Parts: sequence; C-alpha cells; structure tokens
Amino acid sequence: MTALARLILNLKGLPGIGEKSAQRIARCILRLDSDDAFALTEAIVQARTLTRTCKRCGNLTEDEVCSVCADSARMQNEICVVQEAFDIAVIERAGVYKGLYHVLGGALSPLEDISADELNIAGLLERVRAGNIKEVILATSATTEGETTALYVAAQLKGSGVRVSRIARGIPVGADLGLTDEVTIGKAIRGREILEGGEQG
Ligand SMILES: [Zn+2]
Repeated sequence: MTALARLILNLKGLPGIGEKSAQRIARCILRLDSDDAFALTEAIVQARTLTRTCKRCGNLTEDEVCSVCADSARMQNEICVVQEAFDIAVIERAGVYKGLYHVLGGALSPLEDISADELNIAGLLERVRAGNIKEVILATSATTEGETTALYVAAQLKGSGVRVSRIARGIPVGADLGLTDEVTIGKAIRGREILEGGEQG
C-alpha cells in the first residue's frame, strides 16, 4: 500500500468521514509544507496522549481535575448535565453559566442500544447525594434521545430535594448542542424550565 493510500485509509477510520472526505483531507495534507505537516502529526499525538477526562465531572482536561472543577469561584451548588464533554466548551463560550458540569457520555438510545448503565448517571446521583447541590440543569440535546435522557435523569433525581431544570426550547428541535450558537445557548440556559421544585420551589 502506498503512503497516500494508508493516509486515506486512516482518515476513513474516523466516524463520519467517508471516501470523498478522506480524499479531500488527504489532498489538503499533501499541500502542507513539511513543517506544518509535522506540526499536525505532533498535535494529533499530543492531544491523544495528554487529554484525559476529569475524574469529577468527565470534562476533557490534561490534569486530574478540569479547570472548571478546580475553579473555586464557580457556583459549587449547580450542576449542568451535558451529553458530551465537547458540549461544555459550547456552553462556556456563551458565558452565562457559572456552575459545575457533569458529562453523561452520550444519550439513551434504544436504536443504538445505549442504556442507562452505559451513561454516567450513577456518578451524577452520587454527586447530588454528597450534598450541597441546589440545582441540576439538564442540557442534553433537543433530539428524541436528548429529551428521553433528560426525563430519565429528572425521574432519578425526584425526591432528592434538588431543583431540576431543563434548558429552554430556544434550541431548535432536533439540534445537537454542539452545533448550536452561543447566543441561543445563553438564552436557553437563562430561560430554563423547572421540572422538579427542590427545596426553594
Ligand atoms: Zn471537572
């Protein structure tokens, strides 16, 4: 196999990259000068080697605990629940949320055979049970899977005494959180709807 064929084959191994996209990316890579090509491979290896998940919330970090969890200025009594770690960066860019996060690692999906055990719901319940949490904001995607997951997590938190809210419908139905712009996300968080009253109603 030629080096180019091997590159295309590797690119095609990425989810969502088909033959055409792989060829297009390979063409871009071949046009790089050798310094830039080296920088790209270096970035891939470094990101892959150094990035790990925060042991508290599941966010991506190079340390044991992510920068959000390590920041004592953040509201320690609010947890925003997201499907993927990449969703955190999107919400952070909106700049309206100052609490903590919890990454589920996906959404419930009977079609893809993703059940509650495969998501980090137990970890969330544990954090809530440990006390000091006033509100859990469910910021899963506005897809059927995201909605189902939000309802499931809300049901699990029923009776825990915390307020449970769902981000507002500013997010277009069917939208992936990661593809939503920050203004919309900001509005959706501010206009969230309370599902469970918690102590303060
Ligand atoms: Zn964290």
